[in-house]
Amino acid sequence: MSEQGHKKRQQKLKEMVDARVEAAQQEKGLLLIITGNGKGKSTSAFGTVARATGHGLKCGVAQFIKGTWACGERDLLSQHGVDFHVMGTGFTWDTQDKTADTEAAQQIWQHCQSMLADPNYDLVVLDEITYMITYGYIELDSVVAALQARPADQSVIITGRGAHRQLVDMADTVSEVRNVKHAFDAGIKARQGIDW
Ligand code: ATP
Ligand code: MG
Repeated sequence: MSEQGHKKRQQKLKEMVDARVEAAQQEKGLLLIITGNGKGKSTSAFGTVARATGHGLKCGVAQFIKGTWACGERDLLSQHGVDFHVMGTGFTWDTQDKTADTEAAQQIWQHCQSMLADPNYDLVVLDEITYMITYGYIELDSVVAALQARPADQSVIITGRGAHRQLVDMADTVSEVRNVKHAFDAGIKARQGIDW
C-alpha cells in the first residue's frame, strides 16, 4: 500500500475508534469472566487487582482452590491492603468428602457475599469459583443473585474453566484463554514466580 493509502486508512480507523470512544458513555462496575483451558486466567485477575490497587481502589479476593498453597501475588497484594479469603481445608481435586468440601466452599462464599454487598469494595475477584458451581458446592442461583444485587460501581472478576452459560450471558466482558501449548505437557515442572 502506498504511503498515502496507509495514512488515509489509519485516519479512517482513528475516526472510527474516536467515535466509539465518544459513544461509550455508560459508567458502571463491570462483570468480567476469564475462562478457557489456557494459562493466564488467575494472573489476569491479579494483574487487574494490582492495577486497581495502584489507583487506590479497594479490592477483595476469594481463592476457591489452591488457597492454602503458596501464592506470590497474595503475599504481595495483601501488603497493599487487598483482602484475601482463602478456602480452608476441604477441597482437593481427588476429593472424597463432598460434605466437607461443600462446607469449606460455603464458608468462603459467606465472605464473598459480604464483599459483594459492601460498597467499599471497588473490585472483587472470585478466583476459580466456576468449579464450585460445577461441583454443586455453591448454587448458581446464589451467585447470580449476589452479582445482580451488588453495588452499581463494583466490578467483579470471575476466573476458572467452564464458566456457566448464565454467568457468561450476564457478564460485560468475557475472555477465553485458549491453550496453544503449556510447558507442563513437555514435562516441565511448575515454576515459582511463573505458576504460583
Ligand atoms: P495462572 O494462575 O498461571 O494464570 P490459570 O489461572 O489460567 O493459570 P488454572 O487452571 O487456575 O489456570 O491453573 C493454575 C495452575 O495450572 C498454574 O500453575 C498454571 O501454570 C497451570 N496451568 C494452567 N493452564 C494449564 C494447562 N493448559 N496445562 C497445564 N497446566 C496449566
Ligand atoms: Mg487460575
